Amino acid sequence: MTKGLSIIGSTGSIGKQALNVAKHLNLNIKALVTHSNLAKLKEQADEFNPKYIGVINEKLFNEAKNLFSGYKLVCGSKALDFSCSLSSIDMVLIAVTGLNGIYPLISAIKNDKKIAIANKESIVSGGKIVNNLIKKCNAKIIPVDSEHSAIFQCLEANKDFNKLILTASGGAFYDKHISELNKIIAKDIFHPTWNMGRKITIDSCTMMNKALEIIEARWLFDTKNIDYCIHPNSIIHSMVEFNDGSILSQMSNPSMELPIQYALTYPNKYPSNIKCLDLTQNLIFKPKREDVFIAPRLAKQLIDINDDLGAVFNAANEAAVKNFEEGNIGFMDIALKVEAALQKYNNIKVHSIDDIIEIHNEIIKEC
Ligand code: NDP
Ligand code: MG
Repeated sequence: MTKGLSIIGSTGSIGKQALNVAKHLNLNIKALVTHSNLAKLKEQADEFNPKYIGVINEKLFNEAKNLFSGYKLVCGSKALDFSCSLSSIDMVLIAVTGLNGIYPLISAIKNDKKIAIANKESIVSGGKIVNNLIKKCNAKIIPVDSEHSAIFQCLEANKDFNKLILTASGGAFYDKHISELNKIIAKDIFHPTWNMGRKITIDSCTMMNKALEIIEARWLFDTKNIDYCIHPNSIIHSMVEFNDGSILSQMSNPSMELPIQYALTYPNKYPSNIKCLDLTQNLIFKPKREDVFIAPRLAKQLIDINDDLGAVFNAANEAAVKNFEEGNIGFMDIALKVEAALQKYNNIKVHSIDDIIEIHNEIIKEC
């Protein structure tokens, strides 16, 4: 169990659930870092009494200085990674949204911290560069994303697998006709099962979340043998098919607190607040709709053809989501924008984190 935990993105959906887990397990919170939500951060600091506070939005420096006078405060972009080098911190949970998660990730790898990673954009974009660094530093990363946590747990039984099978709820609009999908606007967005941050909720509706998770799995488990299936009740969190034809899965009632807790207590399991499954309910599977929701197909092609394109995929999606939110493009245009960016940059090769940041910023600027 962690002796000193830093939560980067504590005011978000994952961050708040991580603090529930920390309370349940009586964990020692050393640092809380967030972007702008000072009111929530203050509430959390009052309750968990961390030594260090980070506020990424430097415009809030004066306000933060007043609110957090009794703490060691770091403001601006350095707030993203400062807690990853402190000797009193042995574990870092990276729960910010977007590519910014790559800064604490790199820092935590280099500083030999245990890493619980919720932020998928850093793995999708950072891909092989992050993996090379992990190997070089012999770092240990434990996935928080429920699908990857499930696979991680199944692989503890045996690593000799044929294929990873991610489960997908299908999103809120899985059953809708294309004519209705074309009319969806930002205020229609929701998720039927999971209560998550805004960006990932949009990604779930477009099936971009599954696409990002396919690329995330490519790097977390160092394989290209990845498929997905539609399982609307989100009870099976993912599966691994082994070479003897058997499949292992990990199941529970849907709650992010379980994979968060496992990442924080790995390799041990502790009692949690989650109710055990009711085994009288049916497990539902449905066919894929890849002609309509093209994103997972794009991700599978990417890992087969040029897996350096993760940064392009992620940046084009981040830009398209923002444009959709602002009403500049339609719901079904999001995946088309990503497809167009993949075509435009199809030969790209990345050699460093700087290359990844550069291509990311270029795509965000041009979209
Ligand atoms: P939220 O939007 O709920 O929270 C995001 C957190 O990041 C907040 O603390 C926010 O601070 C901070 N933040 C906002 N903007 C920035 C920025 N530009 N740079 C750095 N930090 C920023 O997101 P979620 O908790 O839903 O998701 C976090 C990550 O976890 C994402 O990568 C997501 O894909 C992944 N994930 C989430 C799941 C979920 O169930 N929510 C499931 C699996 C993975 P502030 O509040 O101050 O704005
Ligand atoms: Mg997930």
